[in-house]
Amino acid sequence: MNYYFFFYSDNLLLSPNGELPRGDVSPLPADATGPLRPLPAHEGCPCFAAQLLRTDLGDAWQLVGLRNSFSILPAPLYRLAGKARELLHWHSTTRYCGVCGGPMEWHTDISKRCTHCGREIWPSPAAAVIVAVTRNEGREILLVQSKNFKRDYMGLVAGFVETGETLEETVHREVWEETHLHIRNLRYFASQPWPFPSVLMVGFTAEYADGTLELQRSELKKGGWFDRDHMPEIPGRVSLARRLIDHWLNGNDSR
Ligand SMILES: [Zn+2]
Repeated sequence: MNYYFFFYSDNLLLSPNGELPRGDVSPLPADATGPLRPLPAHEGCPCFAAQLLRTDLGDAWQLVGLRNSFSILPAPLYRLAGKARELLHWHSTTRYCGVCGGPMEWHTDISKRCTHCGREIWPSPAAAVIVAVTRNEGREILLVQSKNFKRDYMGLVAGFVETGETLEETVHREVWEETHLHIRNLRYFASQPWPFPSVLMVGFTAEYADGTLELQRSELKKGGWFDRDHMPEIPGRVSLARRLIDHWLNGNDSR
């Protein structure tokens, strides 16, 4: 039985009890969805993604934000939902060739080709870094609140990689720009696709080296050092930020 990942913007269609649509054919009327795009199979079952064209589908379905589906779907299906969303978003933003303006057509499951000049393109997620900086032998962690955060929680210093930069250079630059601090002992932690809409997050740990905290007010609302007994609200479990903070909360420092 197939799995279907139907998206309306970044909302995923699930049954009222939180399951993905399944079947040997799409369970939705043909006029309710765009063309099906193949995804990698899940446990031997074919998977497909498609844009929802309308949302008047009755009580048999609910739309759930992709972020919220993290706590509903098994991890492998959440990851596939993210890939589906990234591919659908990429498709919707690459209808025409950037060189000659000709219409682009799917060439493989993960690439498109210009029907005029033959130029081939692939999805290219933006690379971003995120870093857990600690000090005082790992007793305190640096937390900041970006102006982009929609709720009142504290996260980690993060930012996009600029053209020509290494990941390490990006971390040093972002920490300096956002907090005017220098760091040392930068270490890779883990990475995570972040399909909102198309980012690859690369996580690091680091130690404070020197400098006095001075926040970049154009980007940050607040920030400071926190110990484990005085933690503010932190990001949800869906994020790499939370994995980094939990790693530290569980007694691991950056040394
Ligand atoms: Zn072209």
